[in-house]
Amino acid sequence: MSELRLLACEEALKLLAAFLDGELGGDEQDDVERHLERCRSCFSRAEFEKQLKAQLGALGREPVPADFGERIRTLIARFDRRTGTDR
Ligand SMILES: [Zn+2]
Repeated sequence: MSELRLLACEEALKLLAAFLDGELGGDEQDDVERHLERCRSCFSRAEFEKQLKAQLGALGREPVPADFGERIRTLIARFDRRTGTDR
């Protein structure tokens, strides 16, 4: 039996978004799945992301307010300013 290739948590988390979208190829999909089976912290992280996506998906079915994009941009701009690297 060949030894299983296990991803490092860092790698697994990097692939997590694509994994949840089902965008990974067979091997990578398997790798992440295998990692989640063995790694509690990444598993709960994956569960969290899944919940988040489910909620966003539910939101997506509601009509989006006209200024939604604008509001997001304002939030991001405010965040950037607070953590801003320029001085
Ligand atoms: Zn992990």
